[in-house]
Amino acid sequence: MKISIFGTGYVGLVTGACLADVGHDVICADVNQAKIDGLKQGIIPIYEPGLENVVKTNVSQGNLRFTTNAEEAVNHAEVIYIAVGTPPDEDGSADLQYVMAVGKTIAQLMQSYKVVVNKSTVPVGTADKVTAVIQQTLAERGFAAEFDVVSNPEFLKEGAAVADFMRPDRIVIGTSSKFAEDIMREVYAPFNRNHEKIIVMDVRSSELTKYAANCMLATKISFMNEMANIAERVGADIENVRKGIGSDPRIGYHFIYAGCGYGGSCFPKDVQALAQTARQFGYVPEILDAVEAVNYRQKHKLFEMICKHYGVWDKAEKGETKDILKGKTFALWGLAFKPNTDDMREAPSRVLMEQLWEAGAKVQAYDPEAMEETQRIYGQSEDLRLCGTKEEALKGASALVVCTEWKTFKTIDYKQISQSLEDKLLIDGRNLYRKKSANEHNISYYGIGVN
Ligand code: NAD
Repeated sequence: MKISIFGTGYVGLVTGACLADVGHDVICADVNQAKIDGLKQGIIPIYEPGLENVVKTNVSQGNLRFTTNAEEAVNHAEVIYIAVGTPPDEDGSADLQYVMAVGKTIAQLMQSYKVVVNKSTVPVGTADKVTAVIQQTLAERGFAAEFDVVSNPEFLKEGAAVADFMRPDRIVIGTSSKFAEDIMREVYAPFNRNHEKIIVMDVRSSELTKYAANCMLATKISFMNEMANIAERVGADIENVRKGIGSDPRIGYHFIYAGCGYGGSCFPKDVQALAQTARQFGYVPEILDAVEAVNYRQKHKLFEMICKHYGVWDKAEKGETKDILKGKTFALWGLAFKPNTDDMREAPSRVLMEQLWEAGAKVQAYDPEAMEETQRIYGQSEDLRLCGTKEEALKGASALVVCTEWKTFKTIDYKQISQSLEDKLLIDGRNLYRKKSANEHNISYYGIGVN
């Protein structure tokens, strides 16, 4: 089938590449000329395991192309995906300007029937808004054409996006048009061979399904972080509690790790956006507000732990943070918001680094994939040194803080840590290590919810 995708970010590029990989004829369009120029030369703008291979294979086979020419993309396909960003507005609600702009572009250029597939995460009611903008633009053109707007939320995880897209748990399609449904079934037929994964529902339920999924996952994380904060105070160990509750199949082991808060481009904005939607409809979303509040606090926890260790928390608590850690240098392992990605959006490491700088400290950091992105965000600064290896980051540092649970950090040489760190302090934001082992090497160890 002929398919076009507007937006070549994490979702659009993966969707385009994977649909091409199962034999569809795909054009990926973006307004970012540099990104498209790079893709045409085989430069993949993001780190995503397996993606480069899928892109290159399908480009060379001729079923995946890149363009900034919207007309080419619209005319090419009967099925057109919208996969552009929906960042948070000032009040937390989703900013739909990019989605609406693509809807308008499609309507300005379409010459025949199109299925417009919304893959961006959008508030309930967006399909109706996209329908309205297409109708209005067609009317302005004085051109009559049939179309359907379908909701098809994406559930891939960054860091495993290609694998998730290729082997989805479910494919949700929101439409009341049988004609559009049949076309979407054809698009996804190659992913639906072994057992039925397609779930068709009304558009509004489909739009809400995506938010409900992300909010449930964020709730699990904030819940565990709350348990960790309680565990810390009552002398319990959250790691034991995790195993104890995860063994109950109604709870399960997934997504119940305590840590330094969730980040990324989805959970923070989606929790806020659904809360805003609820408010707009006259409902106070108490659970969602609490999930967000707990996460906000959790992202500041590493700094709190550091300040408490150095005896300056009483000042920090009053907001007097300026220069309270002057002279200290912190080694940071992990910058990305989670392992296997270079995405730094809303990463807990950013909250910590910015607090450390405000407190007059320096940072020397290592991340297997997110160094370039960190450099892009923060530029050159003498307070941030990006190091080539995790060992180099330790040299001359006062303390080590682990922000991301990359595989390479899962084993640790306590002897080396003890010898390298001036203050022999290890802050473990992901509970990767054992306090007992650290203490045996004269290292002061603090984890999340461990005693
Ligand atoms: P992204 O920021 O990585 O990419 C968005 C792309 O859209 C950019 O390349 C931008 O240049 C392009 N764009 C903007 N306006 C355009 C236009 N008018 N025409 C063509 N291209 C345009 O975003 P992302 O992370 O891929 O997320 C896209 C959507 O998918 C969001 O709604 C997000 O919430 C949702 N989503 C993201 C993930 C994820 O893990 N990143 C997972 C599921 C759903």
